[in-house]
Amino acid sequence: MFDSITGSIRSAVNKIRHKDDAASLKKAVTELRKSLLKSDVHHKTTKELITAVELETKKNGIGQDSFLNALKDELTKLLTTDGNQGFVFSNTPPTTILMTGLQGSGKTTTTGKLANYLKQRKKKVLVAAADLQRLAAVEQLKQIAEQVEVDIYFDDNEKDPVKIAIAAQEKAKAEHYDVLLVDTAGRLAIDEELMLQLKEVRDSIKVDEIFYVADSLTGHDATKTATTFKEKIGIDGVILSKYDGDTKGGVALSIAHQVGIPLRFVGIGEKMPDLEVFIPDRIVSRLMG
Ligand code: GDP
Repeated sequence: MFDSITGSIRSAVNKIRHKDDAASLKKAVTELRKSLLKSDVHHKTTKELITAVELETKKNGIGQDSFLNALKDELTKLLTTDGNQGFVFSNTPPTTILMTGLQGSGKTTTTGKLANYLKQRKKKVLVAAADLQRLAAVEQLKQIAEQVEVDIYFDDNEKDPVKIAIAAQEKAKAEHYDVLLVDTAGRLAIDEELMLQLKEVRDSIKVDEIFYVADSLTGHDATKTATTFKEKIGIDGVILSKYDGDTKGGVALSIAHQVGIPLRFVGIGEKMPDLEVFIPDRIVSRLMG
């Protein structure tokens, strides 16, 4: 995982040869900058991070340890965004989450993973099949629901996702579900029709949070699309999918810094248990190797 960042951090640190050697710190910082940019870290994020690390290292006395400690602190700060962590339950159940994301991002799989995560915690979960865009999405969600043994609301005769969402929430209320996860439509790219549909669904039921599933493997695009979703429909959390296949690791830093929305979970495989709460310290440890 993250071979490129981890390797470059090591080689950056090795540039610092002697204590209080300002020239070697410059070399280390230059090396780090190059590697962050190569690893899909946004240029503004890179600049801020590098400046802070350089300052902090100087303040604590130039040396390999102080450089590493500064980097660790600054990475953790960067990944710690104001807002909720993990899953937050509403005081008025069912806690209702809209699962959003582009087609292929892993949205439907992540809906199943989240349902599984909650079920493991003894919650009564209903998933709603409101992704009527992709032909196979409803079938896929049915299979996933069966696999993780949670209930599903679907209506093969209904073409309107708003009606599905309303009916699902009515069922969830009447039958005392703790959580309702609504799998909404994706598209290959962001378009106005998609945004309009999501807004309609959002406004037709009580929504506690909107999660955006971002595909780590799409690099800078993940940051751009998350920003657009934030601006157009408002999102409360990002779930980074396919983090297991991400060898660069920069996308988490860019999203946290550029989008300013908390990362809530990471998908680390194709199977249902492959979902982890996003914990900045843990990600930093992985980045630093
Ligand atoms: P959707 O169109 O956004 O609903 O995407 P899907 O849920 O169908 O996922 C697209 C593909 O990504 C599927 O093959 C999933 O198995 C895969 N996928 C989803 N999340 C992860 C993950 O965290 N890691 C890996 N390796 N694959 C994932």
